[in-house]
Amino acid sequence: MPEASASLRTQVVIVGAGPAGLLLGQLLARGGVDALILERQSADYVLGRIRAGVLEQGSVEVLGEAGVGQRLLAEGLPHEGIELAFDGQRHRIDLAALTGRRVTVYGQTEVTRDLMQARAQAGLRTVYEATDVSLHGFDGNSPVVRWRAGGRAHEARCDYIAGCDGFHGVARASVPTGALRTFERVYPFGWLGVLCDTPPVSDELIYANHPRGFALCSMRSRTRSRYYVQCGLDERVQDWSDDRFFDELRSRLDAEAAERLVTGPSIEKSIAPLRSFVAEPMRFGRLLLAGDAAHIVPPTGAKGLNLAIADVRNLARALIASCRHGDEADLETYSARSLRRVWKAVRFSWWMTTLMHRFPETGEFDQRIQEAELGYLVGSRAASTALAENYTGLPFEN
Ligand SMILES: Cc1cc2nc3c(=O)[nH]c(=O)nc-3n(C[C@H](O)[C@H](O)[C@H](O)COP(=O)(O)OP(=O)(O)OC[C@H]3O[C@@H](n4cnc5c(N)ncnc54)[C@H](O)[C@@H]3O)c2cc1C
Repeated sequence: MPEASASLRTQVVIVGAGPAGLLLGQLLARGGVDALILERQSADYVLGRIRAGVLEQGSVEVLGEAGVGQRLLAEGLPHEGIELAFDGQRHRIDLAALTGRRVTVYGQTEVTRDLMQARAQAGLRTVYEATDVSLHGFDGNSPVVRWRAGGRAHEARCDYIAGCDGFHGVARASVPTGALRTFERVYPFGWLGVLCDTPPVSDELIYANHPRGFALCSMRSRTRSRYYVQCGLDERVQDWSDDRFFDELRSRLDAEAAERLVTGPSIEKSIAPLRSFVAEPMRFGRLLLAGDAAHIVPPTGAKGLNLAIADVRNLARALIASCRHGDEADLETYSARSLRRVWKAVRFSWWMTTLMHRFPETGEFDQRIQEAELGYLVGSRAASTALAENYTGLPFEN
């Protein structure tokens, strides 16, 4: 017997239930626009991915406007500074004094959990474990999205498709060749990250430039630490015992921080490659890209999640204006406005990555240049302010 198929209609189909897709669903629902989210993985799998942890002030505001700011405000850790470590010393960049702004440490998993809960409470529909998602007709007026779930074929007719399905998703891949221009830099190293239930070594993040390579001391809460060391692309996680990881981390920190470091068993350990990538434009007819589906930055400047939130803020406003009031002006400019800000964050992440890491070709000259730039950075109010402005987040309309 041929299997039954089901068809439905909604205003927006959102592909991907990462932070971009879930936040878009939440903002659209609050703006009176109906949306369906399709996600390839299970909800537990999405919640289990350990990723970003630093939110710009503007991101916190958007999450508040979306009605998911309560736990973030109660449990997020406001940070008014970061530390740069080099040449055996730590130097504080006072973000708040330089810009009047701060960042908040709150894990991407927690942002995702809050958005999933809000969606469930409002009775909004997310299809998890949707396979074979395919996008059709977005160059005309009647897009259709097809997928399989629960052994059946499904389709949704809609006004718009939002591609929030990350770097490896189907949305960007559905755009005809030639309609897309891509820009990419792949860095010749990765980050080996460890998550553990130990108190962080410092109240603020430490970014360390060391002849052995970059290191970052970050955290997710007052009892959960996230540490990274720069590693080669040929490294394998299984070759890194916890002891080996913490010995390497200690060797890249200043003596005081190394002494204070509390170690414990890792609860997650992974290697992430570093890449800068931008696809232009972010709109093709009735298909709109947001977040990692359109761009990737190396995590050095803590921008990936924040860029996704900024895109979605713009996109939600534009879709609400079109779906509710037939006003397409913001949709027309969505791509150009988003890309202007995206490129500034791509530049900042590239600059911070270049400043803080050892490159394979780095010799003593390059090391001295990095140290001179770091010295200038911490010694000049103008240079520190430029760092602080970018780190805490540029204005949304930029
Ligand atoms: C390993 C790792 C570590 C990171 N660490 C940091 C960090 O420390 N700091 C930082 O700022 N940023 C970090 N990032 C970046 C940050 O996590 C991303 O920028 C952020 O997740 C972007 O959100 P998104 O919703 O656009 O994409 P994603 O979070 O990638 O979500 C996309 C969703 O789409 C789903 N999907 C994919 N294909 C399909 C399909 N065909 N059909 C249906 N659904 C699909 C995926 O399963 C996923 O749930 C990290 C990223 C990675 C991969």
